[in-house]
Amino acid sequence: MSEQQNQHLPSYLDPDNPGPWGVFLEQVDRVTPYLGALREWVDTLKHPERSLIVDIPVRMDDGSIAHFEGYRVQHSLSRGPGKGGVRYHQDVTLSEVMALSAWMSVKTAVVGLPFGGGKGGVRVDPRQHSAAEMERITRRYINEISSIIGVDKDIPGPDVNTNAQTMAWMMDAYSARAGSAQPGIVTGKPIPLGGSLGRVEATGRGVFITGVAAAKDAGINLAGARVSIQGFGNVGGTAARLFTEVGAKVVAVQDHTGSIADPEGLDVEALLQHVKQTGGVGGAANTTAISAEAFWSVETDILIPAALEGQITRKNADSIQARIIVEGANGPTRPEADDILNSKGIVVVPDVLANAGGVTVSYFEWVQNTSNFYWSVEEINERLEKIMLDAYHALTATAKEHDVSLRTAAFITACTRLLEARQLRGV
Ligand code: GLU
Repeated sequence: MSEQQNQHLPSYLDPDNPGPWGVFLEQVDRVTPYLGALREWVDTLKHPERSLIVDIPVRMDDGSIAHFEGYRVQHSLSRGPGKGGVRYHQDVTLSEVMALSAWMSVKTAVVGLPFGGGKGGVRVDPRQHSAAEMERITRRYINEISSIIGVDKDIPGPDVNTNAQTMAWMMDAYSARAGSAQPGIVTGKPIPLGGSLGRVEATGRGVFITGVAAAKDAGINLAGARVSIQGFGNVGGTAARLFTEVGAKVVAVQDHTGSIADPEGLDVEALLQHVKQTGGVGGAANTTAISAEAFWSVETDILIPAALEGQITRKNADSIQARIIVEGANGPTRPEADDILNSKGIVVVPDVLANAGGVTVSYFEWVQNTSNFYWSVEEINERLEKIMLDAYHALTATAKEHDVSLRTAAFITACTRLLEARQLRGV
């Protein structure tokens, strides 16, 4: 870590192990030479506007009181209110939430949504708690961050291990404080509470839309194309279903319960059922188990990492045999791995575009909530497709113009938009 970067690390982060936030800093450094006169403002991207750490004391089912650490980070509010999900995971750290919130700033800018970037997290393993405990944790978390969120300030949404039920509790907790129903305070809500049609599938659908566009550009025929997926939750599962609907076959899947493969194509519907019943793909009938390392070297056309960050590294990047990678997860590829993939000629559709379908339909949900006028699923999917494809084509043009990867093109586009807004607003 250089002296230059060092001074941007907040005092409480370890400079020798800066984690995901360090990855974001490196990504910004890589595009700084392309920012022209806006470079003067680039350091604003290296400081989240606001980072809140909260204590969440909760009464457990057995009568004891437990404490959980929660975060809400607003990386940038220059282009609009903060927007981004809340992650529940035992390993969540402030560095991770800072990076995830920065990636939301980049993502909303890439697809041109009038939002900034925010993200939240709670250090909790939901598998260790009853639904009643999770509800109390969620309500207390919202209570603690309520001073910095708001329908026009910062709008949480779902992320890893949070879902429509979590959003319903959040909406209720915030509305109780406000004294009236506030559906626009969170997105990803159940439909009866003002949730949007198409939101649950939106992230996976966006991965599919951009994946199809990139496959076409790479000359991959989708009929019979091989797809490998890491993570078979909402994002990976939806993408698997949509790709098989157009004739592609899912040849390998990995999640926290195991890795499975079938060169002839796995039965995606059966696998989705198995995951619903058992919580993971491990042990699914009529599949062959492979090792975790072997998953990365499976011969495939389209590889979709749709789990957590930091999965494609210096160690496994070289063994990857895919033609294109479509990032459903946030931050799955380390910068060193990016260089290896580039040199192998593998096209990476970066997270900040590929998984932007979720926040795009979250934006539609917020627009519907604040205008009290609701759209059909056809309207939603049509607008989603247009936004994703317009952004994809704009990025491929920028990538060609500067002879850079799609990720660099995405960061050039987003950082330019973010810093233009910052400059216009002044300090
Ligand atoms: N968690 C999703 C993401 O990383 C969506 C967040 C939202 O809808 O606000 O993009």
